[in-house]
Amino acid sequence: MRRIIAVAAIVVASAPVLQAQAGLDTVQIRTQPLAPGVYALFGAGGNIGLAVGEDAVFVIDDQFAPLTPKILAAIAALTPKPVRFVVNTHWHFDHTGGNENLGLAGALIVAHDNVRKRMSTEQFIQAINRREPPSPKVAWPVVTFAEGLTFHLNGDDIHVTHVPNAHTDGDALIYFGAGNVLHMGDVFNMSGLPFVDRSSGGSLHGVIAAAERALAMVNDATRIVPGHGRVVGRAELQTWHTMLVALRDRIKAEIAAGRTVEQVLAAKVTDPYLKDWPAGHERFVRTAYQELSGQ
Ligand SMILES: [Zn+2]
Repeated sequence: MRRIIAVAAIVVASAPVLQAQAGLDTVQIRTQPLAPGVYALFGAGGNIGLAVGEDAVFVIDDQFAPLTPKILAAIAALTPKPVRFVVNTHWHFDHTGGNENLGLAGALIVAHDNVRKRMSTEQFIQAINRREPPSPKVAWPVVTFAEGLTFHLNGDDIHVTHVPNAHTDGDALIYFGAGNVLHMGDVFNMSGLPFVDRSSGGSLHGVIAAAERALAMVNDATRIVPGHGRVVGRAELQTWHTMLVALRDRIKAEIAAGRTVEQVLAAKVTDPYLKDWPAGHERFVRTAYQELSGQ
């Protein structure tokens, strides 16, 4: 119960920074098929990737602990098998909150080395002024990697690739080769401008580089699952990349012209993107200004 209250407090304090939602009791899990045996699950928090088939149930991210029973019910509607693997795209609590429950239920948790480091120690997310205590040990990744690894499951090769210093310092892209589905975690966001968590080692340059890496992996038929928001294709990822390069260059030019961050905000440089990426504009400008001005 204490933990549920803590989650609710986080949800209120940080929304929509980490795209959490209050009122987890009323959240329903929606399942979207993407390829044979490959799905996206939507609830509250980061989008979940799911693969089921002859070998094992493979899950990408697990939202918040109170949602685990509903997530497992959604999976049980597709397969009688238990969750065998969980891959976390990064350490944030709206993507790893179910780790403890799934770890206790016997799933093997896999993530980048820095995800384990951050989940096992107290963290401070400066952009939302939020202290995160260490997670219980059973929630920590048991298998970690530096560059990447591949799962050979369900007739597919599932490639997990680390992209350095982007949303955080522990981000991974997960690509289903046979399914032609790419899950990008919060390196790609269809609900707002990117949240660059600089206190977790993130950088705007890294988010742009990660988009380039992803663009090289996909084709026009690839279904792309962002960390938040709807499933899209290559065209939206390309637009996202073009937008971020344009915003980076614009904010750099404003800094070179001697403008303060308040002046850059007043210039409303991100307004053209409000329609497609409505959330997180002020935070984006402030963190980008900080990074690009060397603060
Ligand atoms: Zn995140």
